[in-house]
Amino acid sequence: MTDTHAHLDFVDFDPDRDDLFQSMRSQGIGNVILPGVEPAQWPRMLTIAQQFGWRYALGIHPWYLPTSDVEALEQLEQLLQQYHADKALVAVGECGLDKLRAKRMAEQGDAKHWQRQRRLFEQQLGLAEKFSLPLIVHAVQCHGEMLPLLQRAQHRQGGVIHGFSGSFEVALQYWQLGFRLGIGGLLLNPAAKKLRAAAAKLPVAALLVETDSPDMTPINAPFSRNTPLTLLAVVAELAHLRNLSVVQLSEQLEANCVQLFER
Ligand SMILES: [Zn+2]
Repeated sequence: MTDTHAHLDFVDFDPDRDDLFQSMRSQGIGNVILPGVEPAQWPRMLTIAQQFGWRYALGIHPWYLPTSDVEALEQLEQLLQQYHADKALVAVGECGLDKLRAKRMAEQGDAKHWQRQRRLFEQQLGLAEKFSLPLIVHAVQCHGEMLPLLQRAQHRQGGVIHGFSGSFEVALQYWQLGFRLGIGGLLLNPAAKKLRAAAAKLPVAALLVETDSPDMTPINAPFSRNTPLTLLAVVAELAHLRNLSVVQLSEQLEANCVQLFER
């Protein structure tokens, strides 16, 4: 199985990356997609992806706005050009919009955060189009803005709305635009009723699974750092909600991942 979204290049995993990968493999999680977050982190991510044979995406995350947007976008375009022949490069991302973050930044005096997020996202949509790559999208409290943007872009390669937490109706609109929904540890929270209903009802073909490690640690977990090992619980819960065997579901989820990310 593939954890379609895990930041295993972060320093959080420096002490035990090898051991963790060994545990993951022994439990059937042999593949990972590392999403890009910012120019300063890209070289490190590329090195680790190469070292472990993991796949990766290149992008600018809305939490990690660069010092210079123009320079960062230029750098991103150069890297996409440079790595385009590498089949391990699977997407542009993670990129997107986060209204919660923009609100916090505005409270701290940065009134331009939202505007910059929007511009950076639109530019990255353009790069995904230019390089014919799917998008890994971070979308928090912004479906009202994100859906029309994607509607207008009509991006042929589609992508994934990662860490999805919305309703069935919203999910269906993304799916109709060619975007899958990345389901993570939030599914394990009984209070996440909207998401659990959506995950139970959407076509299985619309779903991917992910952990967003080291973030998104499931509720009541005995550890604070999330790891791709959480994927097993997510898949088991999803299988339960959908009345499928774990084996059947895992095969379908892996096929979805291949369909979206294999070039
Ligand atoms: Zn992420």
